[in-house]
Amino acid sequence: MSTSLRQLVCSKHVSLMSDQLFYLGSHALRNNREVSMKDITCMSHKYMTLTGMIQHCGAAGLYSFSPPLLRSVHKLSAVADKHMRSVRAQKLSMPSLCPLKFWSKSGRDLVLKNELITLQDKSKNEFCLSPTFEALVTFLVANNNILTSQLPLSLYQIGPKFRDEPRPKHGLLRCREFLMKDMYSFHKDLDSCREFYEQTRQAYRAFFEDIGLIFGKNVVEVQAPSGAMGGSVSHEYHVLADIGEDTLHKCSNCATFYHPEVHNECPCCSSSDCREEKAIEVGHTFILGKKYSHVFNCIAKDAKDLGQNYVVEMGCYGLGLSRILAAYIESFFNSRSGANVNESGSSKKDANFNLNDPSDFYWHPNLAPYKVSMILPKTGNKEEAKSDELVSRLNDLSDYSINELIIDDRDILIGKKLTDAKFMGTPYIMVLGRSLTDTEPKIELIDRVNGKTDYIDDADFLSYLTKLL
Ligand SMILES: [Zn+2]
Repeated sequence: MSTSLRQLVCSKHVSLMSDQLFYLGSHALRNNREVSMKDITCMSHKYMTLTGMIQHCGAAGLYSFSPPLLRSVHKLSAVADKHMRSVRAQKLSMPSLCPLKFWSKSGRDLVLKNELITLQDKSKNEFCLSPTFEALVTFLVANNNILTSQLPLSLYQIGPKFRDEPRPKHGLLRCREFLMKDMYSFHKDLDSCREFYEQTRQAYRAFFEDIGLIFGKNVVEVQAPSGAMGGSVSHEYHVLADIGEDTLHKCSNCATFYHPEVHNECPCCSSSDCREEKAIEVGHTFILGKKYSHVFNCIAKDAKDLGQNYVVEMGCYGLGLSRILAAYIESFFNSRSGANVNESGSSKKDANFNLNDPSDFYWHPNLAPYKVSMILPKTGNKEEAKSDELVSRLNDLSDYSINELIIDDRDILIGKKLTDAKFMGTPYIMVLGRSLTDTEPKIELIDRVNGKTDYIDDADFLSYLTKLL
C-alpha cells in the first residue's frame, strides 16, 4: 500500500493494520518462554498458546488475554447481553472484592472453604474474591425495599470470578480467574420463578445457537444435582468434548443426554442402555427458593396491602464465558476429528484437517476477533495500484463494518500473511493479489466457514464485504 493511502486509512481510526496489533501470532511459541509444551494438555490451550491469544502470567491458572481474544470475549458478552435482555434482565456490576461476612452469613464460606480465595486488608478486615454473588445480590435487593409490583426482577452482570483452583489445567478450561455471566431473579411466588426459569432455559438455547453451538449436537442441557448452591431444580449446560472432565450418559435408544448422578435410566424413554460422553460444563441454572432471601430478609411489600410482606423466591443462572470460548475450540477440533473417523473421504476439507495445526481453526463469525482479514500485495508489485484503488473505497463502509476488518500490508510473502490470518481464526480472508492484474480483475475470497474459495469481480468488492461484515 502506498504510504499516503496507509496514512489515510490509519488516520480514520476505523481500521487496524496487522503490524499494529499487540498479538504474537505465529511468533508466539518463540516468545512464550513461560510455557513448556508438555504442560499443554488440550487443543484450546494449544491453540491459544501457540497463537499468543493467551499469555501465561507467572502463576498456574492465570492468563492475560491478547487484544484479538478480548475482542472475541466482548462479542461473546454482547451475545449474552442480547439474550439476557430477551428475558428483561437488567445489567449491574458488583465488586469482585467482597466482604467475607456475606459469605459467613449464608454459611457458604464453609461449604466452599477450599475454593474461596480469602484475604485481609491492613485493618484485618476479611474479604474474598467472589466466585459467585447470591449473597451480595440478595443483600442489595433486600436494601431496596422493593414492591411486589416490581417483580419479577432479574439482575445480571458479566465480570471476573475467582476460584482457588488446586489443579489449574487445560488453559482457560480450569483456571483461577475466569469470566462469568451470572444472573439472579426475584419473584413473589414459586410459579413466577418457575416461569422465568423456563424462559431463561429458552434464552440459553438461543444464546448457544447464536455462536454456532447446536443444541443437542455440540451442547446439551441436563437436569443436575443442586450441590453446594442449595435449592430444588437445577440444570447444567455442557459442551461435548473428549477433554471434558464431566461424564454424561447418552441414551442408546432415543439419544437423550442425562446426568448419571440424577438419573439411573433415560428420563425420556426409561431405557438403561446408554454410553458415556465426556463434556465440559459451561452453564448452570438453579431454582434457589428462599434459601438466601430468608437469610438476608429479602422481602417485597404489596403496595395495595402494606401489611403484606412476601419473602421472595429466587433463581440463579450462570454461564462461564471464558470457558465457553475454550470449549468452542475443543468442540471445533472434536467435530473435525469425528468427521474424519465417521465419514472418511466424504469431505476433502475434513479429510485434510490436521488436528495438530492450530492454523486450521477458525471462529464462528459472531465470535471472531475480526470477521475479515484483508491481505494486500507487497509494495512495488504490479497489482499494487489496483489494490490501492480498492482500499480507498473502504471509506464508504460504515464504521461498524470496518471495525470488523483487519488489513495486512506488511512487506512479506502472501503465504506468511495467510498463515497469520488463519492463526487468528479469521473466518473470511480476502486476498488482493495477482488476480487483480487479470483482464477482468478478480479478488480471491477464502471462505473458511464453507470450505471454499471464490473469485469475485472487483466491481462487487464493497457489496461483498458489506455482506460479510
Ligand atoms: Zn431414551
